[in-house]
Amino acid sequence: QKRLEKGKVRFFNESLRLQIIRERFLSDRLVTAIDDNELRLVFQPIVKSKTEEVVGLEALLRWRLDGEEVSPVEFIPIAEQYGMIKSIGLWVLEEACQQILTLSKSTKNLTVSINVSIIQLQDKDFVTHVRRLLTQLKFEPSRLHIEITESVFATDKSTLMTQIKALQEMNIEICIDDFGTGYSSLASMQNLGVDIVKIDKSFIDKINNSGSNIVHAVMQISQSMGYQVVAEGVETLEQVNKLNEIGVHFLQGYYFSKPLEVEQLNNYLGNHLK
Ligand code: C2E
Ligand code: CA
Ligand code: CA
Ligand code: CA
Repeated sequence: QKRLEKGKVRFFNESLRLQIIRERFLSDRLVTAIDDNELRLVFQPIVKSKTEEVVGLEALLRWRLDGEEVSPVEFIPIAEQYGMIKSIGLWVLEEACQQILTLSKSTKNLTVSINVSIIQLQDKDFVTHVRRLLTQLKFEPSRLHIEITESVFATDKSTLMTQIKALQEMNIEICIDDFGTGYSSLASMQNLGVDIVKIDKSFIDKINNSGSNIVHAVMQISQSMGYQVVAEGVETLEQVNKLNEIGVHFLQGYYFSKPLEVEQLNNYLGNHLK
């Protein structure tokens, strides 16, 4: 018994030690990832549910390190913790807009969604950076959607709300990401002050039982508030039909397409734009 416990403790220390080493290694390499051309964006289509017409693309960050892909689920928290998220976030914004502008002419109305960390949003220069970049690139602000997670609305509201308002005044649309996983109750949805609500994949996964109540409720409130609703992580035709029945406006997920490399985009869009 004793020996077993000792073994457990040693194992725990060992895995913790390895985790710390990996985190240090990744944070070291992440500092130079932009300059070393290790970052790239992939784009996942967002479709109108009724027609399945592609209306937008979500930019998702990828990091290829020494031939291996490191997941953003692992490196975004490191970027946030070690102070790289602001520069990486600006790179994402610029790269996403630029890539969209190089697509063929028929894609003129596609929107681009980027994920923005709460740390970026807390930066008082963020709005200025965004405005300057859009002007520089001549990128229509109404085509930019900024996705922020629900936790943003749980913390220190006033400064963040000011930032969000400023972005909306530029005609940028704000989307609350992973909706339902965080702190807000359905009641607090009334005054979110966002344009788009993206329902988290976990509810889409169980749309055939407990998930459908949530989706119905979110839909109802959104309709009264004028929010557009997106369902993420849609993988099956069954889910598509159910979400259509409920009246969710936009759908995103592997059923339609995995995130696409830039080289695949024009080809995909050529076949899927209406
Ligand atoms: P997210 O914003 O919720 O993005 C959706 C994630 O689900 C993406 O994972 C996407 O590839 C994946 N996904 C999309 N459709 C399906 C589906 O049908 N089934 C399944 N199983 N998965 C699907 P990814 O690309 O690994 O990104 C993970 C998270 O990393 C994102 O979650 C987001 O929170 C963060 N992230 C990615 N890029 C950025 C970025 O540029 N900036 C920031 N701050 N965070 C980012
Ligand atoms: Ca997102
Ligand atoms: Ca999401
Ligand atoms: Ca999610």
